[in-house]
Amino acid sequence: MSVISDLTEKANDKLKILEDLTSNVKQIQDNVLEEILTLNTNTEYLQRFFHGKFDKEIFKKNVPVVTYEDVKPYIQRVANGGPSNVISTRPITGFLLSSGTSGGAQKIMPWNEKFLDYLTFMYDLRMHVITNYVKGLEKGKAMMFYFTKLESITPSGLPARTASSSYLKSSYFKNRPCNWYYTYTSPDEVILCPDNKQSLYCHLICGLVQRNEVTRMGSIFASVMVRAIKSLEDSWEELCSNIRSGQLSEWITDPGCRDSVSMVLGGPHPEVANTVEKICNEKCWKGIFKRLWPRTKYIETIVTGSMAQYVPTLNYYCNDMLPLVSTIYASSETTFGLNLNPLCKPEDVSYTIMPNVSYFEFIPLDGDENDVVDLADLKLGCSYELVVTNFSGLYRIRVGDILLVTGFYNKAPQLRFIRRDNMVLSIDMDKTNEEDLFNAVTRAKIIINSSGLMLTDFTSYADVSTIPGHYVIYWEVEDKREDKTKHMELKEDTFSECCLVMEDSFDNVYKRCRFREKTVGPLEIKVVRYGTFDSLTDFFISQGASIGQYKTPRCIGSGKPLELLEKSVVATFFSTGDCSFKN
Ligand code: AMP
Repeated sequence: MSVISDLTEKANDKLKILEDLTSNVKQIQDNVLEEILTLNTNTEYLQRFFHGKFDKEIFKKNVPVVTYEDVKPYIQRVANGGPSNVISTRPITGFLLSSGTSGGAQKIMPWNEKFLDYLTFMYDLRMHVITNYVKGLEKGKAMMFYFTKLESITPSGLPARTASSSYLKSSYFKNRPCNWYYTYTSPDEVILCPDNKQSLYCHLICGLVQRNEVTRMGSIFASVMVRAIKSLEDSWEELCSNIRSGQLSEWITDPGCRDSVSMVLGGPHPEVANTVEKICNEKCWKGIFKRLWPRTKYIETIVTGSMAQYVPTLNYYCNDMLPLVSTIYASSETTFGLNLNPLCKPEDVSYTIMPNVSYFEFIPLDGDENDVVDLADLKLGCSYELVVTNFSGLYRIRVGDILLVTGFYNKAPQLRFIRRDNMVLSIDMDKTNEEDLFNAVTRAKIIINSSGLMLTDFTSYADVSTIPGHYVIYWEVEDKREDKTKHMELKEDTFSECCLVMEDSFDNVYKRCRFREKTVGPLEIKVVRYGTFDSLTDFFISQGASIGQYKTPRCIGSGKPLELLEKSVVATFFSTGDCSFKN
C-alpha cells in the first residue's frame, strides 16, 4: 500500500476515533477517573481519602481541589529520591518543567510515558484535522522552529525537562513514522542541539536552502516565530554567504548541527543565495514569508492567550495571506484539546477537550467555588477555571487557566482560552489581571498604530517606589513606515493619550483608586530600545526558561529583568488626563 493511501486510511480511523471520543464524553471521563483512581488509591497521597475501593462520590467529597503549592511537598519528595508511590503507583520517570513559577523557582510536574502517549495521539489527530482543511501539504516539508534544552537531573536521578523537550528527546519523536506529517526541513540534530542560538541559525539555513519545498512552517508558541524572523533580520547576509559557499559559519560548533546541516546544504547554492539576498535586501519586509517560502500554506503556532499579541507582527510578515493556525492546547499537567476549526481567526479559536487524556473538572467563575462540575456538565457561555486529575500523580490540581465555553463538538465542550488566573498588577485595592492588561494595551495599540509605530512587545511593573505607587508599562516599539532612515519620533501627545486610554480601560476599582482616592499614581509608559525584549528573553533562557515554551512575562518584579529594562529606557510618558468612572 502506498504511504499516502495508508495515511488516508489511518486518517479515516482517526476521524472515527475523534467522533467516538467527542460523542461519549461522560462515559469516557468516568472510565478515565476510575482507571486513575483504581490504580492509585494506595498511594500515600490518596489513601488519606479512600478506605476501600474507588468511588466517584467519595472522590468528589473527600479529595480536595488543590493548588501546586499544596502538592509541591509530595512532588518534591519524589524528586528528592522518595518512592514514586508517594503520588503514583505507575513509576514516575521524570519531571516536566512548567513555565509557571512557585516561590521564584520553576514548577515541576511528575511525568511518565503516558503523557507522551497522549501527546503523540493529539499531534497525530491534529494533522488529520488540518489535512481536511488544507490540501497539498504532503507535497512538501514543514519548517518547524523546534528546540530542546539540556535537562537537569533531580536528586532522585530523574530528568526534569520542558514538555516540548521531553517529546522531542523521546523515542516517540526519534522513531516517528516516516511520512510527510513528520518531515521537517531541519535534521533532528538541529532540533536536539542544546545551544538554541546555533539551532535557530541552522533551522533558518535549512529552511532557506529548501525554500521551494516548504509547505507549512511554525513553532509551538508564536513568540518563537517572531524571534526567528528577528534572527533572520540580523543574520540574512551571513546565511546567504553560507548558502552561496555551501560552508557553515565557524561559530556553528555543535558537531551534530555541523554534520547534518552540511549534508542538507550539500554544496554551494549561489542561485538560492542570490534570490534570498534580493528578497531580504528589500526595504519593506511586509509579506516576506510568502516571498521567501512561496509554497507555504499556513503558519502553525499558538496565537491564543498571551500569544495573541504577536498576531499583528506575524500578519505583517505574511501580509495577512497565511492563516495563523493554533492547533493544540496543552500544559505540563496534561494535554487538553485540539482546535477542530484550524483556519478560523485567532480570536475565534476554541479547543475541543479530549475526554480520554485526563479527568477534567471545572470551577465556575460566577458561582460557588466548591461547586466543581464535570466536563460533561459545562454550560454554553459560562467561564470556568480548569482542574485536572492526570495519570501521573496529580489529583484535582488547579491549572490556573480560565476558559469560556463557546460550543460543543458532538458532546465535547469547546473552550476558548481567556486568561491565566493571575493578577499581574496591584498597588492598592486595584487588582489588574493579564486580561485587563491585554485589553488596555490593545486599545492603546490602536493609537500607536495610527501614528506609524508598531508595538512589538510589552511587560509591566508595579512601581511602589513612588508615593503613591503606579503602574509602569514597558513598551518596545518599531517604526512601521517604510523609510526607516527617518528618525523614529515618539510624540508626547500620542503616548500620553495611550497612558490615559489604558487607564480608562481598567476596571472601576482601579479608576476609583487612581482618580478619586488617589492611592494609585498616574500610569507611566517607558519606551525601551529596540531589541530589549530579545535581551530579556535571553536573560530568562539563561536562567532556565525554555526557548520553545518561553512567554514574555506580562509583569515583572524587581531584580535583574527590571534592571535590564530600566537600562534600556529611551523615553517616558505619564498619564495626564482624567477618566470617568462609576461608583
Ligand atoms: P507550561 O506548563 O509551561 O507548558 O504552560 C502551560 C500553560 O501555557 C497553559 O496552562 C496555558 O496557560 C498556556 N497555554 C498552553 N497552550 C495554550 C494555548 N493553545 N492557548 C493559550 N494558552 C496556552
